[in-house]
Amino acid sequence: MLDNLTQRLAKVVKNLRGQARLTEDNIAEMLREVRMALLEADVALPVVKDFIARVKDRAVGQEVVGSLSPGQALVGVVHKELTELMGGQASGLNLASQPPAIILMSGLQGAGKTTTTAKLGKWLKERQKKKVLAVSCDVYRPAAIEQLKTVAAQAGIDFFPSTGEQKPADIAAAALDHAKRHYYDVLFVDTAGRLAIDEAMMAEIKALHAQLNPIESLFVVDAMLGQDAVNTAKAFNDALPLTGVILTKLDGDARGGAALSVRHVTGKPLKFAGIGEKLTGLEEFHPERMASRILG
Ligand code: GDP
Repeated sequence: MLDNLTQRLAKVVKNLRGQARLTEDNIAEMLREVRMALLEADVALPVVKDFIARVKDRAVGQEVVGSLSPGQALVGVVHKELTELMGGQASGLNLASQPPAIILMSGLQGAGKTTTTAKLGKWLKERQKKKVLAVSCDVYRPAAIEQLKTVAAQAGIDFFPSTGEQKPADIAAAALDHAKRHYYDVLFVDTAGRLAIDEAMMAEIKALHAQLNPIESLFVVDAMLGQDAVNTAKAFNDALPLTGVILTKLDGDARGGAALSVRHVTGKPLKFAGIGEKLTGLEEFHPERMASRILG
């Protein structure tokens, strides 16, 4: 995960460790390297600029210049700012609602929404002993409904059937009613993914959101899309009150920039990362750990 960025920054960090003293000049040189590394990892330019400015502010202050081990101090500053950039604390899922806690899943087609619904359902069932129901409102692709049925069974969570002839609002209402009557803790509502953002899609998901008032509204996005992943997340966040973002396919050769930009651009936390096709390929997103991984 984030290999390119990790390697780039590892070089910078190594050079820093070789420095006996840091001056404003060589801080500037190091910051240029960090800037290049972030841009190459496809981190959005405004995010990079802001990040560099923050590191510089801290670095040229007492924290680095004149300290015993300035190279390490600067690495510490970069680490701290990377952590902050990704949201500081791990934010976790909020399920504190009258049961069932409704989790609305949105994203473009192919992002990994259905797979992630099953992964997260499995996670909640196994780690938190939750009784989980999943329903698909994707009436445009019967195959998507079938797919959810299959992965829900693999994940060991319950599936509420729906068909392409129904209206998304009716499906959601029926699933919610079923979930209430059978005392489910969590209801996942998987929505239609389109190839691109369009008004009809947005209107439909906004209506579902208004109807269900979900405690979690998670946007699932493919990390391989790089800056486009961040732009899409922003567009969804502008249209829909998201509570978090899940970045998928971080196991692939994604450059990882999206992981660094999403929080800054949308203001919403990255809650989980998809790290494989298998249903166990999901991990909670911890900014601090991710910063350590990036710095090596
Ligand atoms: P949806 O259209 O958004 O529901 O996307 P799917 O759940 O059908 O996923 C699309 C493809 O991405 C499938 O082949 C999944 O196996 C794959 N996929 C989903 N999440 C991940 C992930 O974290 N890593 C990898 N490598 N593949 C993933």
